[in-house]
Amino acid sequence: MKVALVGIGKIAVDQHVPSIAASGDWELAATVSRSGTVDGVPSYTDIDTMLVEHADIGVVSLCLPPVPRFDYAAACLRAGRHVMLEKPPGATLAEVHALEAMAREAGTTLFATWHSRMAKGVAAAKAALAGKTIERAHIDWKENVRQWHPHQDWVFEPGGMGVLDPGINALSILTEVLPVPVHLKSGVMQVPTNRQTPISAELTFTGGVTASLDWLKDGEQLWQMQFTATDGTVVELFDGGNRCVVDGVDQPIAVLGEYPALYARMADLVAKGQSDVDLAPMVHVSDIMILCHRESAPAFDW
Ligand code: NAP
Repeated sequence: MKVALVGIGKIAVDQHVPSIAASGDWELAATVSRSGTVDGVPSYTDIDTMLVEHADIGVVSLCLPPVPRFDYAAACLRAGRHVMLEKPPGATLAEVHALEAMAREAGTTLFATWHSRMAKGVAAAKAALAGKTIERAHIDWKENVRQWHPHQDWVFEPGGMGVLDPGINALSILTEVLPVPVHLKSGVMQVPTNRQTPISAELTFTGGVTASLDWLKDGEQLWQMQFTATDGTVVELFDGGNRCVVDGVDQPIAVLGEYPALYARMADLVAKGQSDVDLAPMVHVSDIMILCHRESAPAFDW
């Protein structure tokens, strides 16, 4: 299938371009970006022009930040194309519901991707927790924003979600592996005095689930979570979900990496004429923004 990539920036270059190139299912047939391009691929700066000139491209994968994404997604769906959304799938829940309705109306596939759910150990963790009652769980998602998102000011603008931009990855895993859903009870988040979005947060959910999110972590970067079931089983995920340990024993993990697995899933959805739009991780982020106590943190500069 021919795919167009929109928003040629960090994640498009780091993950989407190599994953498409390595797949037998996909051909990168065009890009749309105001300045980014991919060598040897026809490039456009305007989505409508690309859609008109490339009736042969059936799938568009949107890699731009969440706030500008809706208009691009709507244009693609109106043009009858299948659409992949980077995480988080939009700036608001309502706009993603609107996209879902448009895709249904148009009979096209909409895939709200959660790359961390495709991390290699997540399926093993889900299987290990299936049918169990979780007594407690804790998430540590602690990374250095200056290392992973250098000078991406949009993460600190409204809709950028701040530390919830990586935090939603943890929540996408949590909502995938927990046998019973939980919801936010309380939390506190720190917002730099010169920014709009949080740089750290401590969260308490029902079901004994807690989370510590930090975007100023120096040294070892932590993307891990631990679940303890009432029968004593301990399930741990490390490296962003790519390693699963049950009762101290490493589990067999998936073969495909996160982004190759997303493109394989998209190929399957298109072939079956289905959509996949699970907003559970984003509902948690929305609740966090509604319910958390806000504290001022020192001004943040790159
Ligand atoms: P980015 O590099 O800052 O932005 C991607 C590209 O989007 C930019 O290069 C820009 O290309 C285009 N863009 C930015 N603002 C725009 C606007 N207002 N209107 C139109 N186009 C705009 O961001 P990213 O890190 O790749 O992240 C993009 C998405 O992927 C986010 O939702 C993020 O959560 C997700 N993601 C990121 C990572 C990561 O490690 N960075 C990992 C997984 C998922 P042009 O200037 O050429 O138009």
